[in-house]
Amino acid sequence: MTNAYGVPERGDGTRCVHGGDPELRRVGAPVHPGPVLTSAFHLDPAETTPGADFYARADNPTWREYEAAVGRLDGGACTVFGSGMAAIAAVLRAFATSGRGVLLPSDGYYVARRLADEELAPLGIGVGYCATAGDWAAAIAEHRPALVLLETPSNPGLEVCDIAAVAAAAHEAGAVVAVDNTTATPLGQRPLELGADLVVASDTKALAGHGDVLLGHVTAADPVHAERLRGFRTRGGAIAGPMETWLALRGLGTLDLRLARQAENARALAVALRETPGVHDVRWPGLADDPSHVLARAQMRRWNGVLRFTLHDTAAVARFLSRTTLVDSVTSFGGLRTCADRRARWGDAVPDGLVRLSCGIEDTADLVADVLGALEDGPG
Ligand SMILES: *Cc1c(COP(=O)(O)O)cnc(C)c1O
Repeated sequence: MTNAYGVPERGDGTRCVHGGDPELRRVGAPVHPGPVLTSAFHLDPAETTPGADFYARADNPTWREYEAAVGRLDGGACTVFGSGMAAIAAVLRAFATSGRGVLLPSDGYYVARRLADEELAPLGIGVGYCATAGDWAAAIAEHRPALVLLETPSNPGLEVCDIAAVAAAAHEAGAVVAVDNTTATPLGQRPLELGADLVVASDTKALAGHGDVLLGHVTAADPVHAERLRGFRTRGGAIAGPMETWLALRGLGTLDLRLARQAENARALAVALRETPGVHDVRWPGLADDPSHVLARAQMRRWNGVLRFTLHDTAAVARFLSRTTLVDSVTSFGGLRTCADRRARWGDAVPDGLVRLSCGIEDTADLVADVLGALEDGPG
C-alpha cells in the first residue's frame, strides 16, 4: 500500500502515534504539547501578519494538531466538532439544501433521524429514508436528495452498505455523500477512498476511546467542503473544547492496540454466543458467515469490537446485565470497558431483547467466561 505521495504507507500503530506530529521537530519544542487553553491570542498591532490565531472560536493549535492526525488517517481535510451530533448537524446544515434535502439510513443512529425530522423537515428541507441494507439507488432516484448520509456498519444493527456503489449513484444524481464512520473508525474503513465526499464520526466512541470526552469530526475530500464546514463551525459556535480535543488526541495514539484487542474479544464472544442457548441472531461483520461479511470485507480494512445479539425479552436482558461482573450497562461504545445496551429502551425499531455489546480491552478468556456465566440457566 502506498500513500498519496507514492510512499509506502506505514502501519496503523505508527500512523496513530505520529499522525499529529508538527511539521518541524523544533529544538526546545515540547514533544507532547498540552491543550492550548486560551480564548484569545495576541494580535499584531500593525495588522500585517495574516493567518495568525486571533480568537479560539475560529481556530486554535490544539484543534490543528488533532485535525492533522485524524485527517491523515481519513485521507482528507478534517474539522473537529464538540460532539458527533455537532459534526452531523454541521453536515446536514451545510449540504442538505431546502429543495432537495437529505436521504438518511432508517436504521442508523437515532438522534440523526430526530435531528432531521424535528429540525430540518419543519424548515421545508426534504427528509427521506432508506434501510442500510436496502436499495439506495432506487431511494436516490425517488428522493433526488442534495445529501446522502450513510452509516456502515450501522448502529446498532451492524448492517453494511456498498459505499462505492451508493456514492456512484448519488454523484450521478448530483448529491454529496457523507458516511458516518463511527463504528468502523478511520483504521477500519476509509470512505473517502471508496468515493464518499465526507466522513463524519462520533470520536466519543472508539477514536478517543476512554469514555471521558464527547467529540466529533468531519473529514472532507474537497478542501472547499472543508472550508464551508469550518465557516459553519465558527459562525454556529458549536466548538470543541481544547481540553477534550487534547484528551482525544492522546487516546488516538493507542487506537490500533485497542481495536486489535476489542476485535479479538468480539470474535471470541460472537463465536461463543452463537453456541449459547437462548441467544439469537448474533451479528458481527467479521464472522465469515455473517450476512454483512462479504461486503464488509471488501470495503473495510479491519474489524472492531461492536457486536449484537438478541435475548428472549427485556427481562432476559436485565437478568444478564445483573449477573455479569465485567459488562457495564452503558449506552456508548468503543471504550476500554466492555458494555452492553438494550437498544429498544431508546426507541430504536429493534426487538425488545436486542443487545448491542461493545467489547473492551479486558482479557478475552475472562470476558467470555463472564458473559457465558451470566447467560447460563440457573437461579437469579
Ligand atoms: C454516538 C453516535 C453519534 C453521536 O455522537 P455524539 O458524540 O454522542 O454526539 C453519531 N453516530 C453514531 C453512529 C454514533 O454511534
